[in-house]
Amino acid sequence: MTKDIKVIAFDADDTLWDNEIYFREAEQAFKDLIQPYTSATNIVDTLFNTELQNLPIYGYGIKGFTLSMVETAVKLTQGDLPPHITHQILDIGKSMLNRPVQLIDGVESVLDALHKDYRLMVATKGDLLDQQRKVKQSQLMQYFKHVEVMSDKKENDYRQILQQQNIAPKEFLMIGNSLKSDVLPVLNIDAHAVHVPYAITWLHEHAEVPQHPNFLAVEKITEILNVMR
Ligand SMILES: [Mg+2]
Repeated sequence: MTKDIKVIAFDADDTLWDNEIYFREAEQAFKDLIQPYTSATNIVDTLFNTELQNLPIYGYGIKGFTLSMVETAVKLTQGDLPPHITHQILDIGKSMLNRPVQLIDGVESVLDALHKDYRLMVATKGDLLDQQRKVKQSQLMQYFKHVEVMSDKKENDYRQILQQQNIAPKEFLMIGNSLKSDVLPVLNIDAHAVHVPYAITWLHEHAEVPQHPNFLAVEKITEILNVMR
């Protein structure tokens, strides 16, 4: 990693705290709930496709996911969805939104070590209110100078943040679990990226591991301290 880096941005979901595992659990609960009312065997696939179709209008996060569950259920039960099942689907979404934040091992020690020498920020997708709730509950806010909740993580979204925050690409390092969202677009704008994998990755976030001079892959978030200090 280069000496030029001044700002380190952390992805939030599955980088600072657990997230994807709750979506997988919710999918399973959803499947169990509507299975008795449909002959469809591909409930989870249909949900995934509905989510993808809805991403441009709902964006990322639990609220859009909940609406996609309802839409999938209506579709797969040919409109015969009992009202109490709709209610239970909404409850799955609400329980996700009420879930306590579970930090990933080593996160706090990494932030504590780095915040003295670098300007730290959060760069995350998702629902504004939910991400703000998690940042607050995580009690990590003391380490961050800025929290950016983005509607997407493409090259232009990163360019915009760097411009607004007055950061040159070579001064910026993004750390996250998604190659597609946290690594590739960041490398494409000549900034730096570190990939820290999470145990599971949403199908939509899969991508090839890049070969790039500004890229580093580590196994655990604490390994960042070996290169950044
Ligand atoms: Mg993530």
